[in-house]
Amino acid sequence: MSWETVIGLEIHAQLATRSKIFSGASTAFGAEPNTQACAVDLGLPGVLPVVNAGVVNMAVRFGLATDAHITKRSQFARKNYFYPDLPKGYQISQMALPIVGEGAVTVSLPDGTEKKINITRAHLEEDAGKSVHDLFDDCTGVDLNRAGTPLLEIVSEPDMRSAVEAVAYARQIHALVRYIDICDGNMQEGSFRCDANVSVRPSGQTELGTRAEIKNLNSFRFLERAILYEVDRQIDLLESGQSVVQETRLYDSDKDETRSMRSKEEANDYRYFPDPDLPPLVIDNAFIDSVKAEMPELPQLRRARFINDYKLSSTDASALMGDKATAEYFEAVLEGQTFPAKLAANWIIGELSGRLNKENCTIENASVQAPRLGQLLARIDDGTISGKIGKQVFDDMWGTDASADDIIEQKGLKQITDSSAIEAMIDDVIAANPSQVAEYQGGKEKLLSFFVGAVMKASKGKANPGQLNQILRDKLKNA
Ligand code: ADP
Ligand code: MG
Repeated sequence: MSWETVIGLEIHAQLATRSKIFSGASTAFGAEPNTQACAVDLGLPGVLPVVNAGVVNMAVRFGLATDAHITKRSQFARKNYFYPDLPKGYQISQMALPIVGEGAVTVSLPDGTEKKINITRAHLEEDAGKSVHDLFDDCTGVDLNRAGTPLLEIVSEPDMRSAVEAVAYARQIHALVRYIDICDGNMQEGSFRCDANVSVRPSGQTELGTRAEIKNLNSFRFLERAILYEVDRQIDLLESGQSVVQETRLYDSDKDETRSMRSKEEANDYRYFPDPDLPPLVIDNAFIDSVKAEMPELPQLRRARFINDYKLSSTDASALMGDKATAEYFEAVLEGQTFPAKLAANWIIGELSGRLNKENCTIENASVQAPRLGQLLARIDDGTISGKIGKQVFDDMWGTDASADDIIEQKGLKQITDSSAIEAMIDDVIAANPSQVAEYQGGKEKLLSFFVGAVMKASKGKANPGQLNQILRDKLKNA
């Protein structure tokens, strides 16, 4: 029997506001424990939550970016449960009336195809605090700095059919929330985490199988590994006549396995009810239009523009779209320049990315910023230096303020285009290698690269390659 995998993801994106969703306490990461939780975050008696306008703006941005229904009158609800790091005994979330309703994204898959993934809803909620188990021998600490941090929970339909599709979707949402500046996407700090709902069913069956939910996956690799493990586990159970129980599981990356955390509470265990402290959240068309007006260009539109306007291949366009900063860097390199866009794309995808990887550095912090790379590429394009020398200049520019022109000047790297100078070097090489000349003339044409290399070396890499080739061929023929 063959099995079909079904996956739906719940993604928690931490909204990038400076203060919390219902209070003025800071959301900055990494502060001393319990220095950033105020009376509202703790839910002390007599306090009142007030919605941060920034989170409403950000949720609407997400709705617009995913072509979603935006709820004009949404509602906050209390989700009641007990947890040591949830001091109020309930979490303020949205249940029946989420701010963002049905939407969708079109996901580019690694095999080059596209797939539409439907989004059920995206709702606002507050994060809980954090239990710290490893700091003390005999007790657990609670850090409430994270309590009240704004989250947008993005719930997908069970539309994905493999770990690959789930990862592609999660990556796309990750890129999108960063593009529209609503989440910093930092997965190590927990700003973007996924819960994967996984089930299997016999191929051809329309009814969904029983799902397990794997909580808090904070890397794309773990997401993929956890799903693969879980699918195997469920198929093994079913094939040995057992059944899958609906439950919450945790992924252990050291053991590369999932294990049961708790059996799934029914939704109504939470006794959701509208939060009496918060009136319905009402937004109008004027507000939605104002958010629309300040939205950046969406990634899918920008990608199409890169292909149409700059004549880039789909692969190059995708590589540059990896994150917004790279796409912006690319366009900044081209600003005021006349060289082909493809030259800039090649350099960013090749040389620059390689260097950034090596230095473990982001493009925003690249030592060579876009205008300086643009000047270097202009010198390659106008023939002042070859592409190869360009790489050397690039290395020299890194870590300094020097311009490409300064370095070319200082190091005397200007390409030699004076044909008599190139001829003289060729004559020397020919005179020094009589036996190779004879072999070449005898038909061993592969030796051409030997001569090119020798002349290039003599010119310290500066001879114009086109001229060198041309003159060399002529001279070898007549030598
Ligand atoms: P809960 O709060 O219980 O996790 P939600 O409705 O918020 O429930 O989220 C359910 C998630 O699980 C959604 O992403 C949905 O697409 C997915 N899902 C529901 N049923 C299945 C199933 N049988 N197999 C895989 N995913 C499922
Ligand atoms: Mg869930």
